[in-house]
Amino acid sequence: MKIKILGFYGGYPTNGIGTSSYLIQSGDYNLLLDCGSNALNELQSTINPLDLNAVILSHYHHDHTADVGVLQYYWQLHLNGRREPILPIYGNTEDPINFATLNWDNATVAKGYNDLVPLHLGPFTISFLKTHHPVPAFAMRITDESGKTMVFTADTSYFDGLIKFSHDADLLITDTNFFADKKGLKWHMTSEESGKLAKNANAKRLVLSHLPGSGNLNQLVAEAKLQAGADCEVEHAIQNQLIIL
Ligand SMILES: [Zn+2]
Ligand SMILES: [Zn+2]
Repeated sequence: MKIKILGFYGGYPTNGIGTSSYLIQSGDYNLLLDCGSNALNELQSTINPLDLNAVILSHYHHDHTADVGVLQYYWQLHLNGRREPILPIYGNTEDPINFATLNWDNATVAKGYNDLVPLHLGPFTISFLKTHHPVPAFAMRITDESGKTMVFTADTSYFDGLIKFSHDADLLITDTNFFADKKGLKWHMTSEESGKLAKNANAKRLVLSHLPGSGNLNQLVAEAKLQAGADCEVEHAIQNQLIIL
């Protein structure tokens, strides 16, 4: 499995870098996980967007879906050379209004997922866990045929259910929008919470993502590392970083 980080900021693009978007590849299968701001530009630098097999969205906040509309136009305007006749875009069905926008005539089709049944997409098996967030959002556990596993927490505040869901992940990508000293109501995790989650889940590698647009990211990593322990590799997301499992 290969994971390329196309964008990693939470909330809004900044510093020339976009928001949540990851290209997940195994064999010749191309899955786009989230489609945030600037995702289509970054995708075009990596593959032909018509070579996508599917898109999957963790939830419908704009920092995860901002480029869905332009991706739909891209497919609409390129009738030839598509990997799939119509691009499937997977999303949760708990928000029917946003789910319906995943349909675009002759370009994309909305497909539902839920946390009861794993989804099989090409070489991937994907299971879901509903997170704690103001709108329905789903963490994903993605395994390919080699048995390698990545877990993506999606947007969430910390809750214990994430530990079991993330157990023994080869790669854990967490929503780490806050430094350790964040006080008050949180709809995202802090660096310390991400580190603790990685340790308790026995994750091999932790990548902090959905990052804040300001502040020292090395401090964010240091705070997470203190909790994650020596057995877990900890880093923050880097633009265009390619992770091979
Ligand atoms: Zn977000
Ligand atoms: Zn969100």
